[in-house]
Amino acid sequence: MRPWVSILMTRYNETLRNLGIVAHVDAGKTTLSERILFYAGQIHRIGEVHEGRATLDHQAVEKAHGITVSAASARLDWGEVSINLVDTPGHVDFTIEVERSLRVLDGAILVLCGIAGVQPQTRTVVRQMRRHQLPFIAFINKMDRPGADASRVAAQLRKELGQSAALITVPWFEDETLGGILDVVTAELIRFEGDHGERLSRQPANTAQKPLVERARAELYECLAEVDEEIAQRFLEEAPFDTETIRTSIRRMTLARRFLPVLAGSAYRNIGVQPLLDAVGAFLPNPFQRQDSTPGGEDAPNEPTVAFVFHAEPTPHGAVAHVRLYRGAMKRGDALLTQSGQRVRVGRLLRRTAATAIAVDAAHAGDIVAMFGVDVPLGTTLSTRGTANLGGITIPEPVMGAALAVLDQTDHERLGEALRRFTVRDPSLRISHDPQTGELVLMGMGELHLEITLERLYDECGIRVAMGAPKVAYRETIGCEVTFDWLHKKQDGGRGQYARVVGRIEPTVESFVFDPQVRGGTIATVYLSACAQGFAEGCARGPLTGSPVTGVRVVLEDGQMHSEDSSDVAFRIAARDALKDAIARARPHVLEPLVSVEVLAPVRAFGAVQALLARRRGIVTESLGAGDHVAVRATVPLVEMFGFVTSLRSETQGEGTFTAEPAGYAPVPRGRA
Ligand code: GDP
Repeated sequence: MRPWVSILMTRYNETLRNLGIVAHVDAGKTTLSERILFYAGQIHRIGEVHEGRATLDHQAVEKAHGITVSAASARLDWGEVSINLVDTPGHVDFTIEVERSLRVLDGAILVLCGIAGVQPQTRTVVRQMRRHQLPFIAFINKMDRPGADASRVAAQLRKELGQSAALITVPWFEDETLGGILDVVTAELIRFEGDHGERLSRQPANTAQKPLVERARAELYECLAEVDEEIAQRFLEEAPFDTETIRTSIRRMTLARRFLPVLAGSAYRNIGVQPLLDAVGAFLPNPFQRQDSTPGGEDAPNEPTVAFVFHAEPTPHGAVAHVRLYRGAMKRGDALLTQSGQRVRVGRLLRRTAATAIAVDAAHAGDIVAMFGVDVPLGTTLSTRGTANLGGITIPEPVMGAALAVLDQTDHERLGEALRRFTVRDPSLRISHDPQTGELVLMGMGELHLEITLERLYDECGIRVAMGAPKVAYRETIGCEVTFDWLHKKQDGGRGQYARVVGRIEPTVESFVFDPQVRGGTIATVYLSACAQGFAEGCARGPLTGSPVTGVRVVLEDGQMHSEDSSDVAFRIAARDALKDAIARARPHVLEPLVSVEVLAPVRAFGAVQALLARRRGIVTESLGAGDHVAVRATVPLVEMFGFVTSLRSETQGEGTFTAEPAGYAPVPRGRA
C-alpha cells in the first residue's frame, strides 16, 4: 500500500482495545492485571496482592480489604495495539460497578481458577457480558497449583455456558511442575524466563509434547467446525488447516460471540500472560468492530459527538466524569449537553496510565478519557445537541440497610452531603430515614458494601460514623386476588373531594403493574395517572412490617367522578387508600432476600459445612468435588448470613472460603416473620 493511502485510511483508535478483566473473586484478576501492567512497561515492579501492594488497588480501603473496589482505568501499549484496561471490581457486593464498566468495554478476559473452575460469579459476569453482547476470551489461571486441570475447566465452560469453547494454549508440566505452555495453533512450546518471566522463548513441540498438541488441536478444530461453515467444509474435505485459517476463524467466531478461545497459565508464576495479551490484540475487537449493538446514539444521527459517563468520581479537587466516546471528538473548550439539557463545558481531559494521569488535548471516538470538573451522574449521555441518550444502567435494589450515627455531631451536615456524592458514584447505595426512629439509614448490597462505604467516608472525607446492626430489606407481597370498591369523599363546605375507584388486585411476578380497563368514561383519562401514582403509593408500606409491597397487579375497572369535587388529589388518595385496604385483605405475607452461596472447603470439612448451612436454613443445591476441595452451593436467607464468615472459619480451621450473591426473594417461613 502506498503511504498516503494508509494515512487516509487510518482512523483514530483503530488499534485500540477497551478491555475489562472479569472473574469470580480470588481467581487471580488483580495478580493478572499486575503482570499485564508490568510486561507492558507500565510499572517496574510487580506488586503482589498478599503484600497489599497491587497497583490498580489504588484506594487505601481496598488495600486493607485486599479486594478491588473502584474501577480504575489504565492505558498501555502492547505491540501494535493500545489497551485501555478498565479494572472491574471482583467482589459481588459491587456488581453495579462491574455492570457500568461492561457498558464501555469492547472485549474482556474472563479469569477462572484452574481448580474451582466455573463459580457463581463466573456465571453472573458471563450473564452480564452476554447482556452487553461483549466478546470475550478466557484465561484459566493457577495452573501451577496441584489439582488444577485446564481440560476439565474448558469442558465445564462448554457445558455450563452452553458455548463452543476450546483451549488454544495448554499447560506443559515437567516433573509435575508447570514449565511453560503449548501454543495449540502454532504447535510450539513457550517458556517464560528471567526473574519475572519477561523473556519468552518459542520452540517447536518435541515428541513428548506433540501428542498433547494434537489432542488439543483436534478439539479446537472440532469446536470451530461446530460454528464456522468454512472450517466445517475443510473438516469434511479433510483439507489441511494452516495457522492463518485457524487464527482468522478464531477471530471471526470470537467477534460473533459464537466461540470462546481459552488460554491457560499462572499469573502468579508469570506463565502464559504475554500470549494472553497477544490474544487480546488478535481476537478481540477494536471499538468499531463490535458486530452488533455498540451503542452510538443511532437514534440521534445528527449528533457530531456522543459520549457516555460510566463513572462519576467526586475528588477533593472537584468532580471527575469518566467517559467513553462513541462518536466524534471532544477538546478543551467544547460545549456539550446532557440528555436533560444541562450544559457541560469540556475542561481538562486526562488519560490515566497505571502510574500517572496525562493531560490530552482531545479525545476521539472509541476512547476512554477522564473529564475534570464535570459533575454529572453516572449513566449520563453527553452530546453536541443533547438529543442522544444511550440509556441508563440497570441498578440493583439494595438488600440490606443499617442505621448510621456520626461520632462528632459537627459532622452531621457534611455526612448527608458526602453520602449524596457517594450515591452518585454508586447508585446501588441508597440513603433513607427510618420513619419510626428518624435515624439515617444507609442501604446497599451487603454487609461489606456498607462497611467499605463507611471506611471511604473516613478516608476521603474524614467523617467517622458508627453503624448499627445491619438489617435485611424485607418485602411484602399478596397471596390471592381481591376486589376493591373505594370511595374517597369529603364534602363539608367549599370545594370537596370526590373519587371512587373499583377493581381488583392480583399476584404477579413483576414488582408492580397498573392495568387501567375503565370503560364508558366513568373515570376521565386525565385522572388515570393520578390513580397510577396513588396505587403505587399504596404499595410503599405493607401492612405487616411496613416494607414495600411487590408482586401486585392492579386492574382498575370502574369508578365514579363528581362534576365539581373530583381532582387529581382526590383520585390519588382514593387509589392509595383503596390499595392499602385491599392488600391487607389479600393474604399478605413477608418476603425475605435470599443469597446464593458457594462454599469452597477441604473435603474433610464437607459434613461440617453441610451442617453449618442447614443450621442457617440453607438449601444445598449442588456439591462438587474439586481436587482435595469440595464446592457446596446453597440458597440461604440473607438474614442468616450475619457472622457466617466467622462460623465457616472455625468449622474449617480457617480453610473454608465462600462467596454470596443476591438470589431474589422468598416467603419467610411461618413463625419467623
Ligand atoms: P482477584 O480476587 O481475582 O483479584 O484475585 P487475586 O489476584 O487477589 O488472587 C487471589 C489469590 O490467589 C492471591 O493470594 C494470589 O496471590 C493468588 N494467585 C493468583 N494467581 C495465582 C496463580 O496463578 N497461582 C497461584 N498459586 N496463586 C495465585
